[in-house]
Amino acid sequence: MRLFDTLTRTERELSPIDGSTFRFYCCGPTVYGPAHIGNFRTFVLQDVFRRVLETGGLRTLHVRNITDVDDKTIRDSQKAGKMLKDFTDAWTEKFHADCEALACLPPHIEPGAVDHIPQQIDMIAKLVEKGHAYSSDDGSVYFKISSFPGYGKLSHLDTRELDLGKTQNERANADEYEKDSLSDFVLWKSRKPEDGENFWQSPWGEGRPGWHLECSAMIHEYLGDTFDLHSGGVDLVFPHHENEIAQSQCACGGHFAAHWFHITHLLVDGGKMSKSLGNLYTIEDLAAKGFTPMEVRYVLIGAHYRKQLNFTLESLSGAREALLKLAKGARQLAAKIGDEHVTFTSVGFGPFEAAWKSLQHDLNTPGALGGIFTGLKEASSLEGVEAAKALAGLNRILRALGITLPEIVEQKEADVPDNIRALAEERWAFRTAKNWAKSDELRDQLAGLGWVVKDGKEGYTLVEK
Ligand code: AMP
Ligand code: ZN
Repeated sequence: MRLFDTLTRTERELSPIDGSTFRFYCCGPTVYGPAHIGNFRTFVLQDVFRRVLETGGLRTLHVRNITDVDDKTIRDSQKAGKMLKDFTDAWTEKFHADCEALACLPPHIEPGAVDHIPQQIDMIAKLVEKGHAYSSDDGSVYFKISSFPGYGKLSHLDTRELDLGKTQNERANADEYEKDSLSDFVLWKSRKPEDGENFWQSPWGEGRPGWHLECSAMIHEYLGDTFDLHSGGVDLVFPHHENEIAQSQCACGGHFAAHWFHITHLLVDGGKMSKSLGNLYTIEDLAAKGFTPMEVRYVLIGAHYRKQLNFTLESLSGAREALLKLAKGARQLAAKIGDEHVTFTSVGFGPFEAAWKSLQHDLNTPGALGGIFTGLKEASSLEGVEAAKALAGLNRILRALGITLPEIVEQKEADVPDNIRALAEERWAFRTAKNWAKSDELRDQLAGLGWVVKDGKEGYTLVEK
C-alpha cells in the first residue's frame, strides 16, 4: 500500500520494519465529553487504514491512547463534581460504544495516561539528565527546544519561525498552544490549587505530566523507539507531534515514526463545528435525527482523507440511498448464485479489483466507493460461479471499508402508493436507529392515512385498514 507521508511530503510504500507486523500508533480521544463527528472522521479513516493493511494480508499492532488527565479533563470533572477517574471512565465507555456502533475495530492496546505516570516521570528524568529539559522555580519542567536541532521538521517550520534566541525565555504551560507561540513546552506541571486531588509525586515535587508527554512514554513502552507509523488529525502536526518527536528522540534515541499519516479536519455546513452554531454533532445527536452510525461512517469515508469534507445532514440522506443501492446490488448478485453456496478462499476481488487498487493508492476511499458501483454493474452480467466469485470480492472490499449493508425491507404487499412507501421507509430508518419517538410519530401519521405498519425482525409489512 502507498500512503502520503507528512514528514517527507511524498507518497511512500508501506512495509513493516520488523518484516512481519505493521506497528502503528494513533493519538486517542481526550475523554471529557462525547467525541464529535470530526474526531470520528479521524478514527474511522484510521480504521479503514488498518482494515486495508489486514485485508492485504499484513498483521497489525494498533495502539491508541486515552487522554484521561489534562487541563480539560480536570476542569470538567470538577465542574461535574466527580472524581477524575469516574468522570473519564464514563466518557471512555461512551467513546467505546460509539466506536463499536461505527464499526471501528478496537485497538490491540489502549493505554491511559494516568496508568503510566512512572513511565512519564522516567522519560522526563532522562531528558533532564541529558540536558534537554530544565526545571523552573515553581517545580515545573520544560523541554528546551533549542537543544534539539530537528525541531520543526515535521511541521516544516521555516528557520525564521525557529528563531530560538527569541523563544528561550517564553514557555508554554498550557497543554495546547498555537503555532505562533513556538516555545519551550511543559513536560511536568507543578501542582496548582485548581488541580484538586489530581497530582503525583515526582523528583521535581508534586504535579502532573504535560499532555504531549503521554504519547511518547506509551509509544516507548508498547512500540519501542522505532515503529512503522504515527497518526492523528492535522491539528496535531504542530505542536503535539513535533513535541513527541523531540521528547522521544532526545530521551530514547531511535528513529521514532517511520511514516506520518494525518487526516484533514472535517467541516460542518462549510465551517468549523461549534456548540454555539448548534452543529457540533455526536453520534447520538445524529441518531436522534434518524440517521444510523453506518450512514455516518459512509459519509466520513466519502471524501479523500487529505481533502476537506463538508458534513451536512443532506449528505447523510445521500449515504442512506447509496447504502440501500449497494444492498440491493448485493442481493441481486446473491440471487444469481442460487443454491450453489460456493465458498471461496480466493484472495481476488473480481470486478471490485479497481476499488481495491484505489484503497491501496493513498487510501482513496471515494475512489473505492465509486469502484464498487462500477463493479456491481460489471457483475450484473455474470452468472453461477463467476457471480459467486464477484460476491466474495464485494464482501471483501466492503469489509476493508468497514461497511455493513442495511437489511432490505421485503416489499410483499401489493399496491402500496409511493408516498406511503416513502413514509414507511423513513419510519423504518428511525426505528433501526432506535429513535422511538420519531418512529411512533410516523406510525401515527401512516395510521391517519389508513395504513397499519406491522414490524417484524427483518422488516415491516404494510396493511391497508
Ligand atoms: P481530541 O479528543 O481532541 O484529542 O481529538 C481526537 C482526534 O480527533 C485527534 O486525532 C484530532 O486531531 C482529531 N480531530 C479533532 N477535531 C477534528 C475534526 N474537526 N476533523 C477531523 N479530526 C479531528
Ligand atoms: Zn499523541
